[in-house]
Amino acid sequence: MRKPFVAANWKMHKNVQESVDFINQIKGKLPSFDQLEVGIAGTTLALHSMAVAAKDSDVQIIAQNAFKEFEGAYTGEISPKALADSGVDYVLLGHIERRTMFNESNQMVNQKVIATLQAGMTPIICTDETMVQKEHGGSVHYVFAQLMNVLHDVSFDQVKNIIISYEPSWAVGAGQHANPILAEEGCRQIRQTIADSYSYEVADKIRILYGGSVNPDNIEELMRKRDIDGVLIGRASLDADNFLSMVNTV
Ligand code: PGA
Repeated sequence: MRKPFVAANWKMHKNVQESVDFINQIKGKLPSFDQLEVGIAGTTLALHSMAVAAKDSDVQIIAQNAFKEFEGAYTGEISPKALADSGVDYVLLGHIERRTMFNESNQMVNQKVIATLQAGMTPIICTDETMVQKEHGGSVHYVFAQLMNVLHDVSFDQVKNIIISYEPSWAVGAGQHANPILAEEGCRQIRQTIADSYSYEVADKIRILYGGSVNPDNIEELMRKRDIDGVLIGRASLDADNFLSMVNTV
């Protein structure tokens, strides 16, 4: 019922030409859009050219950041409106690298989520568990306070269409095998958190991805998990053949 989503996060890799070449290389070789959605988060400078290259394909264009205002005296910032005008469909927000290296707080991410929605794009909100409570009997209960702060003032109608990516800090960029059982448990508990704060109907609709050291060896097992609707792939998405082979296993 929830359409799977495979997203690449290129971080600060690839120039404009390399980004366009990649799109041209994968175009026409992807599963049909009815079955699977594929998106690529390129660097800001490359996004418009990527959107032009992807025009007659189903590749979705993802920005890696957007500011909270549409225009004004904000030197160096990226307007959500300009992104939307450039053909961007989704915006990655709250990624752990932005939180740790650029001091993005929950409040800042929340403002960016609202601005992204207002510009007509869809946020892909990255979240980590903020606290782990061990309950009696040894079961682990994650607390997603970060996520709920970031969703402040996001309505029922808006939340249904956003995408959440569970990105445990122990797995992002770690290069080690992501444990599919823990990955699914995190996604399941995010869905529960959404059900508790919004409704079961919303929780059932929302797509929840897993991100952190996804690679050709673990993607199939991760995608088989019921609560994992897709993946956000960093390092392993940089090579077009590698990326295509991962997409085609889904
Ligand atoms: P990784 O990055 O696949 O290289 O761990 C994931 C991410 O940044 O979301």
